[in-house]
Amino acid sequence: MRLIALPALTDNYIWLLADDRGDVIVVDPGDAQPVVDVCARENLRLRAILLTHHHPDHIGGAQSLAASTGARIVAPIDARIPNVDQRVADGDCVVLTHPTARFDVIAVPGHTSSHVAYHGHGLLFCGDTLFSVGCGRIFEGTPAQMLASLDRLAALPGDTQVCGGHEYTVANCAFAMTLDPHNRELRIRSEECAALRSKGQPTLPVTLASEWATNPFLRVDAPALVDAIDPQRRLDRVERFAQIRRRKDDFKAPVP
Ligand code: ZN
Ligand code: FE
Repeated sequence: MRLIALPALTDNYIWLLADDRGDVIVVDPGDAQPVVDVCARENLRLRAILLTHHHPDHIGGAQSLAASTGARIVAPIDARIPNVDQRVADGDCVVLTHPTARFDVIAVPGHTSSHVAYHGHGLLFCGDTLFSVGCGRIFEGTPAQMLASLDRLAALPGDTQVCGGHEYTVANCAFAMTLDPHNRELRIRSEECAALRSKGQPTLPVTLASEWATNPFLRVDAPALVDAIDPQRRLDRVERFAQIRRRKDDFKAPVP
């Protein structure tokens, strides 16, 4: 199957997965138009729409795409997402016949209370929970919940392709470097992403193994991060995570 990151809105990605017959799944269509355009241009048939959470930049195009194509909508249990064909919760499996695909549903509360991720075919569609070198803001959960959600995603195989919902990687690297300046893999990733963005290319997907090595929110137990956040060793890992998240909330990325 072919995976495409469709840029949408300001900095969202709509993920599109197509089989060789032209049957297509999209994840988090915040806007219908990019999907309509690529389907027309490449003669693709939209069959299913997977939604990770209720925010408008992730679901905004879903209703009109379903209405115009007959695609079924799969979404978490949340009244803020209307007109859904299949509601999913933690441990469920989404089984599709066209294209033939199967995804495990992982509940990842924190950014929102009902946020889910979809994992299958070596791909992880994680919405606004895990970004490259970052994670989503905690709007409806606690730091403990968000960390538990990230722990679950981080336990997937290292070759998993992480398909996050936003292109935030360059700014995320700038923040991560303030806490983890001697991390060689982070430095390399940062340079690689700056080069990709200067050519207008996405920095996603990225392997989970790369995230283990570079993402400060997956590295709360790494000595470099502990030294940066809590040199006196007074905090537990949830408190360390909360501290990193708070610093990121306040961080102003340098203007490139
Ligand atoms: Zn969101
Ligand atoms: Fe978002």
